[in-house]
Amino acid sequence: VNAVTAAGPALPNQAAEPGQFAQLLTLSLGAGVQSTTIALMAAEGLLPKPDLVLFADTGWEPAAVYQHLARLETVLDTAGMPVRRVSAGNLRNDALDPEHRYASIPYHIRKADGGHGMGRRQCTAEYKISPINRAIRETLGAPAPHFRRVPRGRRATVWIGFSADEIGRVRDSHVSYIRHAYPLIDLGMDREACRRWLDRRGWSVAKSACIGCPYTGNAGWRRMRDEHPAEFADAIAFDAAIRHGGARGTPLIGQAFVHRSRLPLDQAPIDRLTRAERRGTQLDLLAELGDPDGCSPNGCRSGTAD
Ligand code: SF4
Repeated sequence: VNAVTAAGPALPNQAAEPGQFAQLLTLSLGAGVQSTTIALMAAEGLLPKPDLVLFADTGWEPAAVYQHLARLETVLDTAGMPVRRVSAGNLRNDALDPEHRYASIPYHIRKADGGHGMGRRQCTAEYKISPINRAIRETLGAPAPHFRRVPRGRRATVWIGFSADEIGRVRDSHVSYIRHAYPLIDLGMDREACRRWLDRRGWSVAKSACIGCPYTGNAGWRRMRDEHPAEFADAIAFDAAIRHGGARGTPLIGQAFVHRSRLPLDQAPIDRLTRAERRGTQLDLLAELGDPDGCSPNGCRSGTAD
């Protein structure tokens, strides 16, 4: 708890203009189990209140995530922690727009020679980390219109919702004006402890990830098909539209799919556990369950943490 408190508002906050901060405490709100726990703990006074709470919106989250976010925003607003939604655009639309710079999504690729590959994952960095960092630079007083250079001496501590079972995912920030901190690790709370803490307060949290994310596991696809058919239809339409890769740039030599079977989503075996999946290694469990938390800005478990 001391470590958490040390990362909080005890930092000196001089030398900043009104509305800016010399030392800024920020919560990166992915709206999953862990970051929701941090936000509500701060709202209850169990953690210091962040100066800035940022949600990076890809524009393509399931309706349940936006509903959860709206409820959370109401509570955090009342607690004096308004959520700022930031965005680099609508990922779905941008991926299909030939006029838009290519946003690389980690599609499952069947190469022309029949081999398998995976597209590069740049979407998390471009649509989540980048708008969050821009808002932080802006709040630290980087000059408009591009908010690139943070004035000397100004820093942000960014709370990231990795829990105690995820200590191996901790990484330093890549930028000098941000220091990462992990309040749930400091508090010794693992993912289940967060879930129980939320349960006791009547919060259930949907997985936050883009509707057509290729890291979705079979269980996620089935749930979408059975409980949110309009969203599943959207994912099927998107899948059909990306068969030859992005809308811009060199056409893909091979075919792209959102399902790991590298079949069109409406034909993919989402009801069947493969033999490999039954063996139950962690990788195979990911195939069935997908990323347990979905895609948080700093840690999509299915790929390398950004
Ligand atoms: S949820 Fe998937 S598609 Fe969306 S930003 Fe994260 S990795 Fe990319």
